[in-house]
Amino acid sequence: MVKSKHVKSFLTHKPSDNFDVIVVGSGMGGTATAALLAKEGKRVLVLEQHYTAGGFTHAYMRRGYLWDVGIHYVGEMQNEKNLMTKLFKYLSNDQLKWADMGEVYDKMIFGKEVYDYAKGKEEFKAKLKTYFPEPNDQLAIDHYVQAIYDAQRAQMGFFTEKLLPRFLQPFLSTWLRKKALKWNKTTLEVLQSITQNRKLIAVLTGQFGDYGLPPAESSFMMHAILAKHYMRGGNYPVGGAGKIFETIAPAICEAGGEIFVNAPVKEIILKNNKAIGVKMESGEEYFAPTIVSNTGINTTFKKLLPKEIVQQNHLDKKLTQLTPSVGHVCLYIGLRHSKSSLNLGKANYWIFPDNYDHDLNIKNYLANPDSEIPVVYISFPSAKDPAWEAEFPERSTIEIVTLAPYEWYAAWSNQPWKKRGQDYEAQKEKLSQRLLEKLFEQEPQLRDKIDYYELSTPLSTKHFTNYEVGELYGINHDVKRFSQTFLRPKSPIKNLYLTGQDIVSCGVGGALSAGLLTASAITGKNLMKRLK
Ligand SMILES: Cc1cc2nc3c(=O)[nH]c(=O)nc-3n(C[C@H](O)[C@H](O)[C@H](O)COP(=O)(O)OP(=O)(O)OC[C@H]3O[C@@H](n4cnc5c(N)ncnc54)[C@H](O)[C@@H]3O)c2cc1C
Repeated sequence: MVKSKHVKSFLTHKPSDNFDVIVVGSGMGGTATAALLAKEGKRVLVLEQHYTAGGFTHAYMRRGYLWDVGIHYVGEMQNEKNLMTKLFKYLSNDQLKWADMGEVYDKMIFGKEVYDYAKGKEEFKAKLKTYFPEPNDQLAIDHYVQAIYDAQRAQMGFFTEKLLPRFLQPFLSTWLRKKALKWNKTTLEVLQSITQNRKLIAVLTGQFGDYGLPPAESSFMMHAILAKHYMRGGNYPVGGAGKIFETIAPAICEAGGEIFVNAPVKEIILKNNKAIGVKMESGEEYFAPTIVSNTGINTTFKKLLPKEIVQQNHLDKKLTQLTPSVGHVCLYIGLRHSKSSLNLGKANYWIFPDNYDHDLNIKNYLANPDSEIPVVYISFPSAKDPAWEAEFPERSTIEIVTLAPYEWYAAWSNQPWKKRGQDYEAQKEKLSQRLLEKLFEQEPQLRDKIDYYELSTPLSTKHFTNYEVGELYGINHDVKRFSQTFLRPKSPIKNLYLTGQDIVSCGVGGALSAGLLTASAITGKNLMKRLK
């Protein structure tokens, strides 16, 4: 556990009284909402079920190594004009710093072929054109990048619509969403309208693991958000992902707010279809005029609210339009060698089979876990972090992520954390070895240097974040999701607001923007004006 002086444990302390807002969940969206409201003078109580705050931005320490669970890189942080950059600056009082990952931030590896994603729009295009010299392909690369920018620009109205008061929705919703929804086709459809070159399509969609769905299943709206987000390169939080929460939490506490971990909320208390408080798993009740849920749309509506209220508001039917994203496993690796002696680069590796067909590979893998792994993502956090060596001399870390559905591990779901038995451990070990081999293929010098590794599964994700099937990115970013209008900060239940990745999109940027939308909806003010 990484300790923070701004956080108390619900096991040993209890909240005081008179809060203006209760936020359930301390992920990026919940933390941003709480800090923005605190900066508007509100006393906010944040309740987090896990023993560490921060949701997927949290880091954990074991055996002298520090690992990030859900942040490996973030775009735009060198762009002072970007909304996200300004928001982080505002919320952390400029205490959160970012390290540039350099000229190449992602490496797409298909067998022996390696394609570098270069930082900068023109550089990105120019680099890709060196791999695809045919005039048709060169033109397609230009068209593709233009489509990314056009689709991203078209989404301004789409997200503004989420703040419309209910009475204006019938008049303005369709109009505000129209431009963006033109791009709400599958990523594959849009790419195939630009090029028929399968190899090029596979390379251009190589970041699909960042939102969890292959090209034939994802919405191009999500692909465009993501691809544009990284177009100026990747950045890593100096001191690790845990610094995100650590530097924002003071804003909450300075305004009289309190943050509790080990504080699972059992239900949201309603009176006359109005949210008035929360009931804890341990039975205590806390009240406030405004309640915010950062627990995801499924947890909020399926677990925290009474069934009849969900039905009355037709939310049960609306939820059937959404599917949970796939689960993942992550291999956390520790090496007793300094980052400089290992000579590891900062760029992420994305390793694929060499048939250039992400959809087919995923299909095969889900049908047969022993078939080739469709995507292996490798991140070198200690190499990205300029503060690492001073804190952890003679140590380095690596994280390897791949997709893994919850069902593969469901048989052990009733067994307690760390005591799931030998079969579970054997299955994990088999997959760990496969992932290590992928690493050694790229970095053979590491073969005899591994000091420690452990694999998390979707059961770990469920245990630590309370997502029902250990979802990697909340609800799926498919065409159906972007057609829904109920994924907005204001819920149909009075005084109950929603925030986090299900409201805007996955990614720390999506959840952070959701925080801005939710705090703006609660205060009725355009809080964007606070950002310089
Ligand atoms: C493996 C992985 C890698 C990723 N890599 C990146 C990356 O490199 N860059 C990037 O931008 N994004 C990345 N993401 C995505 C990003 O981390 C998430 O999209 C984002 O952090 C989600 O934020 P959120 O606000 O929705 O909250 P979450 O992080 O989902 O947090 C929700 C919180 O609510 C709490 N909670 C749930 N139920 C209760 C309850 N009943 N009572 C109290 N608390 C409750 C949970 O414990 C959790 O802390 C990654 C995600 C994963 C899983």
